[in-house]
Amino acid sequence: MKHWKKYSKEKLIKRIDEALESTIDFQSSKYLGYPVSKLDENVFNTNGTFLSDSPLLKSYIANPNNIGCHTLGKSEEAFKGSQELEKEVIQVLAVDIFKARENEYDGYIATGGTEANMQALWIYRNLFMKKYQATLDEMVILSSEDTHYSVHKGSNILNVENISIPVDFNSREINAEALDAIVKKLIDEGKKYFMVISNMATTMFGSVDNPDIYAEILTNHSVPFKIHVDGAFGGFIYPISNRQSTINFENHNISSITIDAHKMLQAPYGTGVFLCRKGLIENVLTKEAQYVDGMDLTMVGSRSGANAIAVWMILFSYGYYGWFEKISTLLMRTEWLCAQLDELNIHYYRNPFMNIVTIKSEFVPENIAHKFGLVPETHEGNNKWYKVIMMSHVEIDDLSKFIDELRNQS
Ligand SMILES: *Cc1c(COP(=O)(O)O)cnc(C)c1O
Repeated sequence: MKHWKKYSKEKLIKRIDEALESTIDFQSSKYLGYPVSKLDENVFNTNGTFLSDSPLLKSYIANPNNIGCHTLGKSEEAFKGSQELEKEVIQVLAVDIFKARENEYDGYIATGGTEANMQALWIYRNLFMKKYQATLDEMVILSSEDTHYSVHKGSNILNVENISIPVDFNSREINAEALDAIVKKLIDEGKKYFMVISNMATTMFGSVDNPDIYAEILTNHSVPFKIHVDGAFGGFIYPISNRQSTINFENHNISSITIDAHKMLQAPYGTGVFLCRKGLIENVLTKEAQYVDGMDLTMVGSRSGANAIAVWMILFSYGYYGWFEKISTLLMRTEWLCAQLDELNIHYYRNPFMNIVTIKSEFVPENIAHKFGLVPETHEGNNKWYKVIMMSHVEIDDLSKFIDELRNQS
């Protein structure tokens, strides 16, 4: 790992203090034209000795605005401290986790996976319009039936049709033959430009799509396409647990990636990450954003600099090895659960690199599922699956109570 290091608490605090100092100081501010200020001291407790040990609270009080994208062009001078820390987060994710080459990526901290997925679709829609004069009905989004519903939102907002690709019921793998037939049919119907959302861990199953299947089939049909990887859930686990993974920027088929920090990384909500190769994000430049110094290339406008600092703190508190250990513990618990289920002859789906176990509903009585807060695949009748996610609060003691109840009812 070139950039992902572990810093001492003193170093973390010092870097954040420096970042906040280079952010505008509203107390002695000469900035009369900015519609910004620190949190309202009439409402919030904005000083006290407890703050010296709470760099994140201090950051929320200072309230920097990380508006814009900071991996290219100019950025607002007033908030360069928190922008700098955001750039370090993007660098760790792009270079160390997803194997981009130095300075060959762009990215920003979006409000979540939903925005990051839409940002990708927005970029590709505009790219196809610019490069090929594509019309909306000549474009199409492909994604598996297990894909997160944010892709359907994006399809609706951008007015580009989404087609769901069937997966095998047990392996949750994309059915390549069905995909090929669907692509052929779509081309016959006049579709020419394809955007793919490939999952790096689906929300319900933790299944990981093979993006090369899409690439191979679309290449065979000689149509232009772009592949976005939705790693909202799996992005902080899968590339670390599966060292052989080729789902990264070394794979030339992959153009962009979503990773949520507010899921596995336990960052505050509002911290989804969007990453892409250089030369793509300019497709969504909003030229009319004239009051912002620098280019506005993001779906969201104003966004929290304190949230960026929170993600930076988490990454550099653990460092790569610390994070690896944390993931390993969760995977160990997952294996423990699977071993118990095997013993009880209960059927489930699990990707060996992920911390989700999705159990066939016929093995889990509804009252037990409810009591242990399992999430069903659907809340509307005919539910076939329930999932358990090994987050840091889900310990073997908790799992074993669940297993005991399953054992006793059979
Ligand atoms: C959670 C999730 C999203 C949406 O993320 P939000 O951060 O809730 O907007 C998108 N894709 C996948 C696979 C997810 O698990």
